[in-house]
Amino acid sequence: MCCDGTLFDGVQLEPGDDAPRLQALGLPVKSFRARQPIVRFPQPCAALCADRTCRLYADRPRQCRTFECKMFKEARAGRIDYAAALRVVEKTRRQADKARRLLGKLGDTEEQRSLGERFHRMQCRMEAEAADPAALALFADLSLAVHRLKLLAHEKFYTRADEQRSSVATDS
Ligand code: SF4
Repeated sequence: MCCDGTLFDGVQLEPGDDAPRLQALGLPVKSFRARQPIVRFPQPCAALCADRTCRLYADRPRQCRTFECKMFKEARAGRIDYAAALRVVEKTRRQADKARRLLGKLGDTEEQRSLGERFHRMQCRMEAEAADPAALALFADLSLAVHRLKLLAHEKFYTRADEQRSSVATDS
């Protein structure tokens, strides 16, 4: 979930990361103008394989190397056992899958975008269009699914610093 657009919208490169090399390896790295220029690539990550391993593991950027979610830290410190931590991961993935299914039913099949971005775009579409009652009911279910996912993400996975680059955590 750290790589597939569930928890984050993208990965920001840090000093020491070799942007041209990562680009040559297939990551769509882009620079954005800002007071401090931002170099990042979007999630779902182009290097994430179907078996959920990283195609670029040996070359992955610094943020990927150093990131540890709250659940992993809790398990490593012995505050939760690994089986219980895995159940939380599975529950959160089911919640994300539910949100993706509902987006699909509403006509959004843009699997290449992060879940947070897809939900935000759908929210804008619903506000702009005169949606029929069935679509509005689906959107209500989607909003609830994303809300539950946000709660899980905040409670179980993000640390304070992670929230600034999160996918579903920001209020859209
Ligand atoms: S480079 Fe690898 S570790 Fe980093 S986001 Fe992509 S799949 Fe995940």
